[in-house]
Amino acid sequence: MYHHSGTVVRQAGGSAGVLDTAPRDSDAILFQRCTWCGTAMYHRLLCPVCQGSDLRTERSEGVGTVRHSTTVHRNTPAARNVSLVEMAEGFVVRGRVMGPPIGIHSGDRVRLSTAKDPVRGEPVFQLVDEPFRAWT
Ligand SMILES: [Zn+2]
Repeated sequence: MYHHSGTVVRQAGGSAGVLDTAPRDSDAILFQRCTWCGTAMYHRLLCPVCQGSDLRTERSEGVGTVRHSTTVHRNTPAARNVSLVEMAEGFVVRGRVMGPPIGIHSGDRVRLSTAKDPVRGEPVFQLVDEPFRAWT
C-alpha cells in the first residue's frame, strides 16, 4: 500500500549570515598558512606542498609584485586589467591593478588598495613605484 507523504518541507530562510565576516576584513587580504610546512596559499583547502589540512588564516600586509598581467576586452567599454600578484607572504592572488593597462608590467611592485572590488569581488592594487622613475 502506497502512502504519499505530501508534506513539503520548506527551507527556512535566513541562510545569509553564515559567512559573517568582520567589516574591517574588507581592507585586507586574508590567506591561509600551513601549520605543518609554513606554505602560504590563497583560497585552498589543502596545502599544495604537503597536502596538510591544518591551515591557519592570516592577514596579508598587502604588498606584492606583479607576476603576470593581461588586458581583457570583454563586453566592456574600458579595457580591464587582470594581473597575478605574488604577495610578500608568498601566495599569488588574481586581481586588478589600477592605472593604464600598458603601464603595468611583470615585476612592478603593487600595494593593495581594496581587498574586494564591489563589482567583481576581486582585490584591487595600485602601483607603488612611480612609473617614470625607471626612465630617469
Ligand atoms: Zn604544508
